[in-house]
Amino acid sequence: MKPKTELKPTPEQWNDWKWHMRNRITSEDELRQVLEPTSDESQAIEATKGVFQWSITPHYASLMDPNDPACPIRRQVVPAMDEMEFDSTGIEDPLEEVAHSPVKNLIHNYPDRVAFCVTSQCAIYCRYCLRKRMVGEAEFMMRKDELREGIAYIAAHPEIRDVLLTGGDPLTLGDANIDWLLTELRAIDHVDIIRIGTRMPVKLPQRITPELCEVLSKHHPLWVNTHFNHPKELTPEAGIAIDRLLRAGVPVGNQTVLLKGINDSVETMRELCQGLVRMRIRPYYLYQAQLIGGTGHFRTPIEVGMHIMEQLQGKLTGFAIPRYILDTPFGKVPLTRDYILGRNAEGVVVRSTRGELWVELNEAPEPGSVPIELPRI
Ligand SMILES: *Cc1c(COP(=O)(O)O)cnc(C)c1O
Ligand code: SF4
Repeated sequence: MKPKTELKPTPEQWNDWKWHMRNRITSEDELRQVLEPTSDESQAIEATKGVFQWSITPHYASLMDPNDPACPIRRQVVPAMDEMEFDSTGIEDPLEEVAHSPVKNLIHNYPDRVAFCVTSQCAIYCRYCLRKRMVGEAEFMMRKDELREGIAYIAAHPEIRDVLLTGGDPLTLGDANIDWLLTELRAIDHVDIIRIGTRMPVKLPQRITPELCEVLSKHHPLWVNTHFNHPKELTPEAGIAIDRLLRAGVPVGNQTVLLKGINDSVETMRELCQGLVRMRIRPYYLYQAQLIGGTGHFRTPIEVGMHIMEQLQGKLTGFAIPRYILDTPFGKVPLTRDYILGRNAEGVVVRSTRGELWVELNEAPEPGSVPIELPRI
């Protein structure tokens, strides 16, 4: 069978996001046009059929190393037999999002904010996805009347001032639908900020067209959070996409998932954070990977994450450092090393990021009093 993907595009096709969507790799034959799958990959492509969606955009595929099955890009999107290990957890919905959904695909777990999954579609399916339970699944697609139900819920709850559009990937929707959705939300007085969570700048940066940016710029204040995991993803195409968003007045943040063998080292994380701020993207969160069935091979101990954060703190531009977050059904918990070693009514003892101890008193010490000598730790 002749593969449908024709991976020798003209420059015009390469710059057209719809061409990428139409020519995504979704079969082993198509994958063979860019690399020779290992027997594990080949077996996994077959075994994961019907378990979790699979597709790779030509843009993201072009970043894979055909000679290295351990390539951090390739591992994010090519199935592996490890996914079939429904490990000890086997959990589908670790954050109990379904229980927190008053209407379809709308998660209300914080008093002032909702996450609204406006589509279940993505351009690629990341093998570790937090929402594996729903992404790519037809039953989680949103019809217009279902979107209206979500909008009506937000309109009926004046405490909601921050709406996070997520999915799936909201930017798989066409410009007209995005414009409609943002117009409806903007018509609600109490909605203060709207955020879009999208991985398009990483997997399909061509999606960030001038036309899309025109639409977005009509609905401020609007923020975008994207999802770079590895410095190899910081391509010139991604740079153009981010520049367009920023010029449209949209601040861009980044959420990374800590993934074993992909970005679980100090060097990779430092390079990623520095590369992000060079593109004027603010590193926002570094997520501890969730306990989701079939993703055990990506999970890194929290100790490793804490060590990476400790090595970044004080050694990188302050705003280049994300917050390390554990998400729970009770909300996000920052995983920070305790820099406050002790405190009482007089003040606190802290440990600096360089290891020195410091006493900060609430009031200036009496003149002539003996300074406190502290050991170095
Ligand atoms: C993460 C999340 C948010 C947004 O949280 P911030 O910390 O404000 O970025 C909102 N709703 C849900 C359900 C979430 O998981
Ligand atoms: S882009 Fe986001 S929602 Fe889509 S598969 Fe990847 S991690 Fe999941």
